[in-house]
Amino acid sequence: MPKVIYNYNKCTGLADCADACPVEILEGSESGRWCKPVDDEVKNKAALDKYYKEVDPNDSSKLVIEFDLPECIECQACVASCSQGAIEIESD
Ligand code: SF4
Ligand code: SF4
Repeated sequence: MPKVIYNYNKCTGLADCADACPVEILEGSESGRWCKPVDDEVKNKAALDKYYKEVDPNDSSKLVIEFDLPECIECQACVASCSQGAIEIESD
């Protein structure tokens, strides 16, 4: 399953990655600070749970986080769009 890996130490939250994604599985967070898996509790429940439970803005060691996103087609458009080098895609 493809993994989307965000490094929130680098992410500025302007959502270029979300805009670039052809399958619309990324979005900005409510805080506007970071992007995350799109809010779809059916498709992305595990990833959303991980985002809300594990990301700790006060602990930089918890700001690199992998999300399993089965709908990702590994096109790398998000990676190319990110001027901060804050997102990677890995095949599992
Ligand atoms: S394009 Fe990069 S810096 Fe911008 S929100 Fe996405 S991951 Fe963060
Ligand atoms: S690799 Fe393509 S499909 Fe996967 S999250 Fe990035 S832009 Fe979307």
